[in-house]
Formats: sequence, C-alpha cells, structure tokens
Amino acid sequence: MSENVGVKLLAVKGMNDVLPPDSAKWAAIERCARAVFHAHGYRELRTPIVEYTPLFVRSIGEATDVVEKEMYTFTDRGDRMITLRPEGTASAVRALLEHGELARDPVVRWYYAGPMFRHERAQRGRYRQFYQLGVEAFGVGEPTIDAEQIAMLVEIFTSLGIGGLETLVNSVGGAEDRPRYRAALVAHLEPRRDALCPDCQRRLGTNPLRVLDCKSPSCQTQVADAPSILDHLGDAARAHLDGVRAGLNALGVAHRVEPRLVRGLDYYTGTTFEVRVTGGDLGAQNTLGAGGRYDALVAELGGPATPAIGFAFGMERVALTMPAPATEFEPKLDVYLAAHGAAARLACLGAARELRAAGLVAEMEHRAVSLKAQFKRADRLGARAVVVIGDTELAEGVIVLRDMQAGTQERVPRAELVAATQQLRERV
Ligand code: ATP
Ligand code: MG
Repeated sequence: MSENVGVKLLAVKGMNDVLPPDSAKWAAIERCARAVFHAHGYRELRTPIVEYTPLFVRSIGEATDVVEKEMYTFTDRGDRMITLRPEGTASAVRALLEHGELARDPVVRWYYAGPMFRHERAQRGRYRQFYQLGVEAFGVGEPTIDAEQIAMLVEIFTSLGIGGLETLVNSVGGAEDRPRYRAALVAHLEPRRDALCPDCQRRLGTNPLRVLDCKSPSCQTQVADAPSILDHLGDAARAHLDGVRAGLNALGVAHRVEPRLVRGLDYYTGTTFEVRVTGGDLGAQNTLGAGGRYDALVAELGGPATPAIGFAFGMERVALTMPAPATEFEPKLDVYLAAHGAAARLACLGAARELRAAGLVAEMEHRAVSLKAQFKRADRLGARAVVVIGDTELAEGVIVLRDMQAGTQERVPRAELVAATQQLRERV
C-alpha cells in the first residue's frame, strides 16, 4: 500500500531468519537428533502448526504463563479460535486420539521437529518463534523408559560436541501427592509474598509450584529454603524416581536430583528432567532440553488412561552452545568450472553435470566475466580444483585442471575429466 512506501521491511520481532552457514549447522543438528531418535525406534510425526485454541488451554493449563500471556491466538475467517502451537505435546496427543493409534499398537513412539511460537520477552536463547525437536512415548509407565529418554537427550548433545552438561531429575509427584505439597509450599511462601515478583504473587493463588521455577533473583531467594517435594512424595512416586535413577546409573548417565525442578506446563506428573549447560553465555536460557511424564493427559483429552513421557530441546540454544563453527557443516566445493567464451560456457554445463553425477560438488560460472575474476571467485569459495574450458581446449578436446592447493595445472583429455578431478580431490 502506498503509505508503506519507504518503510523498511523487517522480520517480526523475536522471529529470526536462519541464513547460511548457520542453516547448515541446524541441518547437522537435526540429522544427529533424527539418527538418535531412529536408533531408539521413534518414528516421525508431522502435525499442523495451528490447532484450535481449546486443545492448548486444556492440556497446558489455564494458569500457566504460556496460556495466560504467551500464545499467538486469533480468529480465522470462520470465527474459530486458532493458536500457533506453543509446544508439540498437545498436538501429538490430539493426533494419537484422532487417528486411534493406540488401538493399533499399545506402545507408540513418535518424534517431531518444527517451529513453535510463544510471545515471550525476546533475548539471547529466547525467541518468539523457536525450533523444537522432541519425542513422545505413549503406553509405557515403567521408569526405564524415563531413563532411556534422558540418556537420548544427553547422547544428542554429547555427540554434537557440547561439554559441561548437567542432567537434573526430579518428581513432581502424582495427583495424590501434589495437593499436600502445594499446601506446604503456599504456607512457606505466603508470609514472604511481598518479596516475590508480581507474577509470582499471582502464581501463589493459581500455580504456586511455578514460583520454584521463576528466574527472578528475589523469588529464587525465597524458594531457597522452601519445603522439598521429595518429602511429600507418596510411595509410588518415590519408587518410580528411584527406578529412573537406577536406569540412569545402568546407562552411566551422571545426574543430580533437583527437588526444585518443576516444568512450566500443567500436564506434568511424576518424573521431570532438564539438561543444562554450565558456563557459556546463555544465562537463564541455559536449559537446552527438558521433559517429563504426563500420565494423566491422554485421559484428560478424552482417551484411555495411558502413561506417557516426552522431551523437547531448542535448536537455537543448541546451535549457540555447539563449539564447532557453522562453516564446518557446509559442503566443500570440489570443483569450480571457469569458461572462456559462450561456446565454452555451454560445454561447461555438461561437464559440471558429469562431475556432479560422480558425486562431486561442482559450481560453474554463468556470467561472462574475465578468467582472472573467475579464478578469484574460485579462490574465495575455497574450491579444491578449477576446470578451465576455452575455445582452444574445445578444439583440442582437452580441459585445463588446476590444483588450487598446489598452484599447479595440467591439460587433461576431456574424457578423463571426472577421473582426474576425483584423483585430485583425494590428494592431500
Ligand atoms: P524456559 O524455562 O527456558 O523458559 P521452558 O520450560 O519454557 O524453558 P519447554 O517448554 O520445556 O521450556 O521447552 C523445552 C526447550 O525448548 C527449552 O529447554 C528450550 O531449549 C526450548 N525453548 C523453550 N522456549 C523457548 C524460547 N522462547 N526460545 C528458544 N527456545 C525455547
Ligand atoms: Mg518458558
């Protein structure tokens, strides 16, 4: 529209483009995660990016930060309330029930990857559109699968070269334990109400466990000596936590029980866990991945009573933490084809195709620029070799193959193009 002429067009605040070479790093992270997921028998689920709003309100919980103030909700043209998904679990449970998957198999293991949306205060490691990869396992209540999932998360980060990991586990108890603990926590916090941040003063009435998780320093001080949930766990929850720890020990996963570890969404029951990175510059955004059990959610959304557990990790935080530079994940240019003249450029088309068919990464110059400029560009791109074709070469049925590392070149029969270039690539 005319009033917008001259207005600079920018991405939406808190939502980022991912350009090369960073996009190559993202792809590498995703490849690594998928390999670990597949090795554990998880299969991919793809769901729409929007859902009808009540799905999230009912699953995540009305009195959570996400539902209270972070969801992107709008009415569509049919006047239905639609929300951009803030997380992946609710959609997975919806899909599980909608397609009757549990009738086919009592154990379902899924993974997903894709963008999530939360209207948060954007900062390093915290965005309004962020990319999550996660898993969900339905139908298994035994604690060994909890340990296995925690180990998967650690395995992904470790194989990406991330050091200084800290694995925290806890139990938020079952439905029968939570009210007792909630009462004890409120009794501890109520006299300190004035020292809590405004959000937590409100949470005291709606969702007091969330105060444990608040990032404000004053709230952290107030919960430092709060009663521990571990003292309020019933026998079943305690035995389950012991089972998770035994599993982690069997797998050699170093971990620590953190009684203040709760998750921000209401559907969690029993086991909760987080993998954090110590050191680094992510500040309060140092949790790379997190998850837990949600044994009541499937039934709450209308399905049969089904134990479930899952986790998700954030791509952006992992990419920021991974030590390797992004350029390392980009394909190396094996050969650059430089043409001298229009006829040679046509010949380069076919030559480049032959090289690619043999598995080489080949880029040709399409612009009519000087050979000098073409060599400069090949150098800047880090090409291992340059193939030069001009009128003389065309007439003689040869090509010029330049070794960019050694700075030498030779004339090679056109028929030996692929073999000679391959040989040069193998040479160190
Ligand atoms: P936090 O306590 O850091 O807000 P959370 O408890 O809200 O995290 P989950 O909903 O459990 O996080 O999501 C799991 C992972 O997804 C986080 O550990 C993080 O890596 C990533 N994540 C969550 N929210 C964001 C965000 N706004 N921006 C970037 N990554 C995010
Ligand atoms: Mg959050």
